[in-house]
Amino acid sequence: MTRVCVLGPSGRMGKAVIEAATATNLTISARVDLGDDMAAGLAASDVYIDFTTPVATRAAAALAFTRKLPAVVGTTGLGPDDEKALAALAEVAPIVVAANFSLGVNLLLGLARQAARILGPDWDAEVVETHHKNKRDAPSGTALAIARAIAAGHGSDYDTVKRHTRDGDVGPRPRGEIGVSTVRGGDVIGEHTATFFGAAERIELSHRATSRTIFAAGALRAAAWVVTQPPGRYDMQAVLGL
Ligand code: NAD
Repeated sequence: MTRVCVLGPSGRMGKAVIEAATATNLTISARVDLGDDMAAGLAASDVYIDFTTPVATRAAAALAFTRKLPAVVGTTGLGPDDEKALAALAEVAPIVVAANFSLGVNLLLGLARQAARILGPDWDAEVVETHHKNKRDAPSGTALAIARAIAAGHGSDYDTVKRHTRDGDVGPRPRGEIGVSTVRGGDVIGEHTATFFGAAERIELSHRATSRTIFAAGALRAAAWVVTQPPGRYDMQAVLGL
């Protein structure tokens, strides 16, 4: 039985992972919340699942590095130092990093890329995301992944075409710009729509999550998969074989 350490077990996603694990042949060997002994929890496990904060993600990756421990990381809003810690871990252990573990969103990433490739930058691409009012990072990691998939479809560099805010006299929309807008409120688990605006027609690709179970089940599937892989960084599309 694969032993799983759950980071952030009292959080929204941590709770969902622990609940979903009962329907798998994975066993929860440790639960590490803020203030708990993370090193001990990791030492008792074959893989860890991380839905926490960027600071905790960095700390866990550094500890896991010394044990070459496989990881499944769903925390979003990661900065360059957090990414560096994950890159170091991926040198010695297999890790899955995904802003979204649902099958539907991972399919949507492929569809958005394909639509952008076929339609081209003359169709204005915009991504809108909605989440519950307690979400910390914006735009969501999923919205950024969708926007990056569109940029890949256009063959453009996302950092030079992205537009995350509009305020004041922003002027006409440049060709090839990719807009991402954020809505926050209530208890929305996660909604994403990529719209492609053509002349006199428009295409909308939408995903709506109505339960965190889909992310939890995906993360557990990734945990079972990742322990059989060689060191490296993988995404959820690799886990799902998309
Ligand atoms: P949350 O605030 O409900 O839970 C965060 C948990 O992390 C809490 O239990 C907190 O105590 C714990 N924590 C904080 N610092 C810690 C530390 N140093 N060590 C151990 N535990 C620590 O948040 P949430 O809604 O569960 O979301 C967590 C993260 O997962 C966010 O970044 C969110 O965007 C992301 N998320 C990803 C997906 C996905 O599919 N990849 C889905 C939903 C949420």
